[in-house]
This record gives sequence, C-alpha cells and structure tokens, in this order.
Amino acid sequence: MNALLKPENFKPNYSLVKREVSKIHDQFSIEDPPVNPAEIAEGLGIDVRFVEFTGEHSKISGFYDPEDNTIYVNKHEFPLRQTFTIAHELGHAVLHREWARGDGYRV
Ligand SMILES: [Zn+2]
Repeated sequence: MNALLKPENFKPNYSLVKREVSKIHDQFSIEDPPVNPAEIAEGLGIDVRFVEFTGEHSKISGFYDPEDNTIYVNKHEFPLRQTFTIAHELGHAVLHREWARGDGYRV
C-alpha cells in the first residue's frame, strides 16, 4: 500500500508539502507572488474546467477528478474564490493523487 494511503499518514505532512512546493517553484521559475494556480495546473498537464454544478451540487466549489486529471471549478463563484479552489484541488492532485483515486476521497 502506498504510504499516503495509510490512515496514520492522513495527518498533514508539511515537509512533503514544502518539497512539492519547492519543486513547483523551481519548475515554473516562481520567485514572488502573485502565483496563478490555474497556470501551474495547466503546466503540470492538469486541465482546469469552469463548469456549472446543478441541483444538490450547486454549492460545490470544485473538485479534482484523477481519472481525467481535471480540476472542475464552479463557474458561478467569484474569481478569488475560484483561485483558492484551484489551488486547493491542485494540492490534492500533487500531494495525493493515489488517495484521490480511492474511496476515501469525496467531492
Ligand atoms: Zn479538498
């Protein structure tokens, strides 16, 4: 089993986060804010799609689908909230794609 899938590893792993963030900073030559998480996602080959969630799902801000490697963002939310959502979902994609594939991950 992937180490990230063990329940005891569900606690935040800040050193992993720092390593992954450093890699992204290097890869995209990011030195200062502002950072555009949508650009980073696209650069990593992750599609970002702005979509309409309907009915009981209309309050969803977004989610990452590991099957099609795509971040879906609620197109009706305001841009700063969408940027936060993309950054958050990018975290799922970069830090624990395997876990996102399993049953533990819920939209
Ligand atoms: Zn999440």
